[in-house]
Amino acid sequence: SSSSSSRVGRDRGLSQVKHVIAVSSCKGGVGKSTIAVNLAYSLSKLNHRVGIYDADIFGPSLPTMISPKDTIIRKDQQNMLLPLRYEGVDCMSFGFVKTGAAGSHPHTGLAAMRGPMVTQVVHELLTFTKWGDLDYLVIDMPPGTSDIHLTLCQNIQIQAAVVVTTPQKLSFVDVIKGIQMFDTMNVPTIAVVENMSKIICNKCGEETYPFGPGYRQSIVQQFGIQQVYQLPIVPLISSRSDCGDPVVLDQSPQSQPIRDVFDLMAK
Ligand code: ADP
Repeated sequence: SSSSSSRVGRDRGLSQVKHVIAVSSCKGGVGKSTIAVNLAYSLSKLNHRVGIYDADIFGPSLPTMISPKDTIIRKDQQNMLLPLRYEGVDCMSFGFVKTGAAGSHPHTGLAAMRGPMVTQVVHELLTFTKWGDLDYLVIDMPPGTSDIHLTLCQNIQIQAAVVVTTPQKLSFVDVIKGIQMFDTMNVPTIAVVENMSKIICNKCGEETYPFGPGYRQSIVQQFGIQQVYQLPIVPLISSRSDCGDPVVLDQSPQSQPIRDVFDLMAK
């Protein structure tokens, strides 16, 4: 909501980014990074120019989930950091930025930092990265509703949030927390993803809902969020992530139902 001229100054590397989407979850391990990365690649497959910023400073997962040939972060003449490109998407993560190397905090390194400094470093790596001309920058937020979220929402223009959860009752409380946090920052939550919602037997096709049916109706009714997606537990999703190749880039028939969910999301 700041004026466009001050934005260019403060946002540096983000000045040509059209839309910033924050993917967030209250807890770790629910699949936030998986959703962020696959959403980014689905947008890219629709011919958008896309970047991914892995904002999780202590548990970066992007280096595991993609496998660029060159993993050395370089600087341009203006001392801006150049993202690593993998399969057409520009990627930046603390996992690529080693302590003492380009981009790490000059005084502290990454290991021992107090909260406000962590927040500042997360903001700096984002804005000192030369993202260039992007249609979408997907930010894989750290888990929780921390100061980092507030600072990023205050300092850069985030157009939309995607909240990721698993479909238990306890997680629904988290969804509400997430939506409300973004609400207070005037960032609309446009989609909720209930991840690991069901298991489909690969022999008989029987569907099991390990965490219950989920909260799609409540999310639609209470918050008016029309886009609620359910993603099943599929071993292919995690095996592809583990070998550095997001599942939506897989062309096999087994990944088709997963690709369909992400395609819907991206559109
Ligand atoms: P978070 O970012 O919320 O911490 P991740 O995206 O890292 O979670 O996911 C945690 C683990 O679960 C990873 O190993 C990932 O590959 C796996 N995973 C996530 N979603 C699914 C799914 N729908 N089916 C199978 N494995 C999944």
